Amino acid sequence: MPRDPYEVLGVGRSADETEIKKAFRRLARELHPDTNSTDPEAESKFKEAAEAYEILSDADRRRQYDAYGHDGLRSGGYAPNFDGFGSVSDLFSAFFGSGGFDSAFGTGRGGRGPVPVQGGDVVVAVSVDLAQAARGERVEVAYEADVRCEHCHGNGAEPGTPIVTCPRCEGSGQLQTIARTAFGQMVRTALCDRCGGDGRIPEQPCSVCHGAGMVREERTLAVDVPAGIADGQRIRLSGRGHAGERGGPNGDLYVLVRVEEDKRFVRDAEDLHTVIDVAAPLAALGTTVQVPSLEGDLPVEIPAGTQPGATITLRSRGLPPIGRGRTGDLHVHVNVVIPRKLSREQRDLLEQLASSLDERNLRAEDEGMLSKLKRVIAG
Ligand SMILES: [Zn+2]
Ligand SMILES: [Zn+2]
Repeated sequence: MPRDPYEVLGVGRSADETEIKKAFRRLARELHPDTNSTDPEAESKFKEAAEAYEILSDADRRRQYDAYGHDGLRSGGYAPNFDGFGSVSDLFSAFFGSGGFDSAFGTGRGGRGPVPVQGGDVVVAVSVDLAQAARGERVEVAYEADVRCEHCHGNGAEPGTPIVTCPRCEGSGQLQTIARTAFGQMVRTALCDRCGGDGRIPEQPCSVCHGAGMVREERTLAVDVPAGIADGQRIRLSGRGHAGERGGPNGDLYVLVRVEEDKRFVRDAEDLHTVIDVAAPLAALGTTVQVPSLEGDLPVEIPAGTQPGATITLRSRGLPPIGRGRTGDLHVHVNVVIPRKLSREQRDLLEQLASSLDERNLRAEDEGMLSKLKRVIAG
């Protein structure tokens, strides 16, 4: 069942023509493939928005929908279907006419001649260990980005050779075709595939970039990974991506940070958890153990009579927060281990101990049945 077109466009039932048009243009701008290369559903969302717009922008169709819903439209012979369009760019041109996206939003020069295009984004992954994530780290990232070809200064022509009018589009930069659609004939305008919309092509392509005007460059960049970063977070470096075309702005560089797993710890936001084994007799006697932390091993006192599942919290030994807040803690979970094998001599000693134990050795100070049960269940 298609969604409610008012909901799709995010307008109220009483929205007027201008509001509807505005809402659609805003959505179209968000979802256009040139601006939205990351959302895999952008195309289907755009089609949905286009269908909603087709219904609400036509007074008859809108009345029919208001009265009888989608069923009413279908019985009235209206069947929205934008699957016949080759691409969203084509669909876009159908709605906004020649010049497509750029002229629709005033970013270009009215559909004729060069249109500035923003450069694409680049994503690069880096990996840090947990200690580096905790203290922050400057890392070198290597990546490739398209930059203007210096041999031809970006115009794609071998220096000293002319740039001529594109013979395919005769300089308009556009090709028009007539398409049959559910609403009758529509003139579709697409960018010329020969000149890419410039209207002009080099007679002799640049020997370095082969006419593209761009070359691929290898770059390295020092990036500060902030203390407290979590696995999968991205750092955006504005303007460090691919160069824009025809005067358009550069794309961005996204540094995807992977935080390697540290087998000694489980991370929970800023807090860390670790488990240490303590032999049962030592837990009874009390002892000092070495506990792993991000700053190296720390001596930690295990008090006499420590029970299985007891937790010792080392304040501020976790990770710092990104932004405001307090540094996390390191929670040391004490795993009291019962010896699994005993020598003859150990067995004799343990038998002596066992026969000397009575209720008073096992009971916590004034521990009732209920609190004991709670402790066992929680453990
Ligand atoms: Zn052309
Ligand atoms: Zn070149």
